[in-house]
Amino acid sequence: MRIMVQKYGGTSVKGLERMRLVLDRVRKSHALGYKMVVALSAMSGETNRLLAQAREFSHNPDPAELDVLVTTGEQASVALFTMLAKEAGLRARSLLGHQIPITTNSNFTRARIMEIDAARIKAMLEDYDLLVVAGFQGVDCHGRVTTLGRGGSDTTGVALAAALDAEVCEIYTDVNGVYTTDPNLCRTARKLDRITYDEMLELSSQGAKVLQIRSVEFAKKFNVPVRVRSTFSDDPGTLVTSEDTEMEDVLVSGIAYDKDQCRITVRNVMDRPGVAAAIFGPIAEAGIIVDMIIQNTGRDGRTDMTFTISRANLDTTMSILDKLRPDIGAEEIQHDVHVCKVSVIGVGMRSHSGVASTMFTLLKKENINILMISTSEIKITCLIEEKYLELAVRTLHDAFGLSEAPTKACA
Ligand code: ASP
Ligand code: MG
Repeated sequence: MRIMVQKYGGTSVKGLERMRLVLDRVRKSHALGYKMVVALSAMSGETNRLLAQAREFSHNPDPAELDVLVTTGEQASVALFTMLAKEAGLRARSLLGHQIPITTNSNFTRARIMEIDAARIKAMLEDYDLLVVAGFQGVDCHGRVTTLGRGGSDTTGVALAAALDAEVCEIYTDVNGVYTTDPNLCRTARKLDRITYDEMLELSSQGAKVLQIRSVEFAKKFNVPVRVRSTFSDDPGTLVTSEDTEMEDVLVSGIAYDKDQCRITVRNVMDRPGVAAAIFGPIAEAGIIVDMIIQNTGRDGRTDMTFTISRANLDTTMSILDKLRPDIGAEEIQHDVHVCKVSVIGVGMRSHSGVASTMFTLLKKENINILMISTSEIKITCLIEEKYLELAVRTLHDAFGLSEAPTKACA
């Protein structure tokens, strides 16, 4: 049995006309000889509307009930689309998460998929051409409805493809694919034909919001090649896949940025064992994610500790630090919200040196001061002043050759 999994996002299913476009695509793929498993999102705006409504009824809505509420968005999409498909003569039925079942843990509003009954879906595909699955939802071992976190329908799609060992997994959205950088910021941004899972993880965690991060982790773990493409054009989109030697030839694949940054400096803390633990322990306990960290070389038994967090966590972090002050002996705590991160990403960096120094030189030429630097195997990130964000992104994008054909690394 040849199985194709497609997922359609909220803008693709918003209203009858768009659902007709989706149906056209599904029928064409079915005509190629595939059994179709199609995961749908709620119509765009619907999940937000339901979440806002919940807040009218309760200041602190029960997470389990929130999941029962928001899953109605996907439930409506699959029922309406299945009606349309049946009217067009397809043997189709809808499936909610608990009907398959897609079993998750009980972490309401951000559950993780534990198991999918693939045998049951395959048995159904003997009788149906098309199974229309509600994205974003599952059921826990107590039979309670769960959801997979915002954007979770992507993960439903990829998880179905992995469980069913599907030949093709396509994620349909309203953009042509994954771009070398944000096209709103840089007019020369180019759509990528291919990108590796690791690069995609770095890009999506930094604001290229095409795929839910978890869906990429899933795809990587089960080695599912995912094609991201637009419902509204015939562009073949971007293939998200594992690395091959050809991809390593591409030195830099994309420039990512993140404006949601805030820099905190704790000045003149005691330079002794346990200080970092004393600072970052309570911050982590408050559920706050710390990103870049720098500890300066100590002088006279004192040192500075600088780190970045999301802007939304500033107040909580400052009050935690205030309380710690006597213990760590900090003289001053400063913060700056007018900063942002710019990153250069590419698997080619694993085997080629010099990308970091090129990045620093390019920023220097534009007179952009680097406030902090962090690196991973495939990413170099600089924290800079926010007012230089656009200039930095455009400069790096064009200088690393991303506006033209793919950059080939020099030997
Ligand atoms: N409807 C959900 C959301 O808006 C899930 C999804 O569309 O992927 O987050
Ligand atoms: Mg989405």
